[in-house]
Amino acid sequence: MSPILGLDFGGTKLAAGLVDSTDGAIVRSARRATPVGGAEAGIAAMLDLARTLLDPLSIRPLAGVGVSFGGPVEADGRTVRRSMHVGGWEALPLADRLEGALGISAKVANDGDAAALAEHRFGAGRGVRHMLYLTVSTGIGGGVIVDGRLYRGERAWAGEIGHMTLRPDGPPCPCGRNGCLESLASGLSVARAARERLGLEPSSTLAALPADQITARDVAAAAVQGDPLARAVWDEAMGWLGLGIAAAANLLNPGRVVLGGGMTDAGALLFDPVRRIVAARALDPALEVVPAALGGEVGILGGAALMFD
Ligand SMILES: [Zn+2]
Repeated sequence: MSPILGLDFGGTKLAAGLVDSTDGAIVRSARRATPVGGAEAGIAAMLDLARTLLDPLSIRPLAGVGVSFGGPVEADGRTVRRSMHVGGWEALPLADRLEGALGISAKVANDGDAAALAEHRFGAGRGVRHMLYLTVSTGIGGGVIVDGRLYRGERAWAGEIGHMTLRPDGPPCPCGRNGCLESLASGLSVARAARERLGLEPSSTLAALPADQITARDVAAAAVQGDPLARAVWDEAMGWLGLGIAAAANLLNPGRVVLGGGMTDAGALLFDPVRRIVAARALDPALEVVPAALGGEVGILGGAALMFD
């Protein structure tokens, strides 16, 4: 079978991989820093990476190219609305451009949607028909799988669980609103909450760090050591995360909720409280909350999984 080219265009890195279209194995991959010179530089870099992967001695035709893109994509699955990370990508017909340059069919999805597809096809979501995926990282993204397929919604705004309002008077969110799940439980919001409380609890072990450099990872580490401030900040964030997942689960009744992203490196510190709250709030007693399985390859595999969708 011909391999699929999976592209992962993120905030810091651009990665490409040749993915075996039968079992999803990554045959070969390459990466570089995300080009900042707008869409033309970005597309040129994508094509460069693709060429480095295609061995001229054993060229097999590609079955297609799929892109996991760090920014919203139109419901057509072809046009980028903008990048969340670099300028110059507004209303860019990315699939058309790749099809023109490579002569194969192309599809595009935002990174949350692509990761959901990848985990469902190749990772922790295998075997369920309906799945909810969340990336819990500096921000919170997500994707919804219904009947084995990506559910984008009428205008492709579905799955934005990070912007579910949980506390209308809550902290500001990067989306311009207040009290979204992302503003209460993302890595950036955990770090911000810890910084804000340090003034009230200067005895915290976190006070030994430069305040502007405290990360969610530092808060998690201090919480494990029993630091009361870190514990309180972490537990509060996990409370909101569990609440958001339970609310989404009561709407969608997924067979499984898959959590990926850097915050899930905290392991039981994240999953134990989240599972407890989900068990208390979700109506389906059989709902599972499990860690993602694909790690740093999820973007390449997500791009490739688009070609199966
Ligand atoms: Zn928001």
